[in-house]
Amino acid sequence: AAQDKGRNTYQFYAQSMNVALAERLSLESDLRKALERDEFLLYYQPQVDIRRWDVVGVEALIRWRHPERGMVSPASFIPLAEELGLISAIGDWVLRTACRQQVAWRATGLDVSIAVNLSAVQFQQPSLTAHIAEVLQETGADPHKLELELTESTAMQHAENAVTIFHQLKAMGFRLSIDDFGTGYSSLAYLKRFPIDTVKIDRAFVKDLASESEHAAIAIAIIAMAHGLKLRVLAEGVETQAQLDILREHRCDTIQGYFFSQPLPAELIEQLIVNHRRRQRSSGSSPDSFLLAS
Ligand code: C2E
Ligand code: MG
Ligand code: MG
Ligand code: MG
Repeated sequence: AAQDKGRNTYQFYAQSMNVALAERLSLESDLRKALERDEFLLYYQPQVDIRRWDVVGVEALIRWRHPERGMVSPASFIPLAEELGLISAIGDWVLRTACRQQVAWRATGLDVSIAVNLSAVQFQQPSLTAHIAEVLQETGADPHKLELELTESTAMQHAENAVTIFHQLKAMGFRLSIDDFGTGYSSLAYLKRFPIDTVKIDRAFVKDLASESEHAAIAIAIIAMAHGLKLRVLAEGVETQAQLDILREHRCDTIQGYFFSQPLPAELIEQLIVNHRRRQRSSGSSPDSFLLAS
């Protein structure tokens, strides 16, 4: 009986492994077709200046609308796309779409910068900057209103390379930010050599800001360090007033998170920004009166 049990367990594992493998293979084959089937879209999430309470930018976040599975999270398909060698084509689509959106918004008088995530694989491609220049030229987008995000771990893993590429991108007019800061292993010496504009504090340290003093200590230290290096600081994943209050008290510059808005499709974000600005103006709330009221 013990043997039977062992065999059943084995079969159970073998079976679930087959299911997982089949699942993965079908996802892979769907991902290969997703671009030509036009299944990707970009959502945008506002980045809000804490002092003026104005939307100063948006981050472009890719979504995959799978015909059967519904929305697939980028956290699951971006790593797969990197493995399959599809990330360049997808990253190209993202940049192009964000550039077109910026041009379209500019035409309607909406002035916001758009942040685009670069993957580690894209970052290692020698043709990256030439390629980005091509997209700029084709779309007519303004690089001064585009921000490129690279995670701290990618930047530090390829630190020497990052210094060179960052300088090239900076010379092209882009703004640069380090994403998910605090989760990687940073050398402050490198951070100082990167011509970056913004450090984005990872959500992990913002999540427990109001309850866990160690996380609060890290977030506060990152703000102080960034300001010491004359960099702007953005806090990711801000969901509550309590988090916002602590960040404001410690002079964090910008926030992004559900507290202000979830990522939304372009049309909705456009409405949200226009309405927010109209409300801010009509309530006559100067930055100071907002600060007093809050
Ligand atoms: P990220 O660049 O750090 O983006 C922030 C993530 O936090 C987004 O998840 C966003 O929806 C989520 N988020 C924002 N505010 C809150 C909040 O208040 N609470 C919580 N719980 N979550 C919040 P998303 O859109 O699922 O993207 C996950 C990751 O996938 C991104 O992390 C980024 O690393 C990657 N990614 C997304 N779009 C792209 C892309 O176009 N290209 C590349 N290479 N990577 C992308
Ligand atoms: Mg990002
Ligand atoms: Mg992040
Ligand atoms: Mg992330």
